[in-house]
Amino acid sequence: MKPDYLIIGSGLSSLVFGALMAKSGKKVQIIEAHEFPGGFGHTFPYGKYYKFNAQLHYVWGCGEGQTVNRILKHLNLDQEVTFEQYDPKGYDHMKMPGYSLEITGDSQLLIRRLSQLFPKYGSHIKRFLIEVEKMGIRKTL
Ligand SMILES: Cc1cc2nc3c(=O)[nH]c(=O)nc-3n(C[C@H](O)[C@H](O)[C@H](O)COP(=O)(O)OP(=O)(O)OC[C@H]3O[C@@H](n4cnc5c(N)ncnc54)[C@H](O)[C@@H]3O)c2cc1C
Repeated sequence: MKPDYLIIGSGLSSLVFGALMAKSGKKVQIIEAHEFPGGFGHTFPYGKYYKFNAQLHYVWGCGEGQTVNRILKHLNLDQEVTFEQYDPKGYDHMKMPGYSLEITGDSQLLIRRLSQLFPKYGSHIKRFLIEVEKMGIRKTL
């Protein structure tokens, strides 16, 4: 088979592009050096009982109508590839000597928590997180 697209590496970007092209009728060939596809997004078994994720632990934009959801729907994969929302009160737990922080997807709550921990920097924290929000980086987890 002579492909229309020969893609080197099966990371998430390759898989998404390859799947979209295949769906539009193109012939796609993806070549992967590793034994598992998915790049940083792959999960691998370890022993009999364990599964490890290579890196990826949060995926943004999975809510209804958001980018990931729209692509999965387009590929008819939205029922197969599903997501769970992390605990909105705190999905990451940072523990440092002297303080701890529950990181939340709710910006206002995160600003309040960080400002309580670092009152001297409250206004800077607020400005920074508002800028991050504007860039769309921390939209719904
Ligand atoms: C520690 C860490 C944590 C992260 N956490 C998150 C997160 O929580 N949320 C998030 O959205 N993103 C996260 N990321 C980023 C995310 O994992 C990457 O941006 C994304 O997976 C990269 O995808 P990619 O398509 O660039 O390909 P990659 O994942 O880089 O995959 C490239 C693939 O190409 C293969 N390859 C390379 N060279 C060749 C070759 N010559 N021939 C054949 N195959 C080849 C590799 O084996 C690999 O499978 C994290 C990244 C890291 C490092």
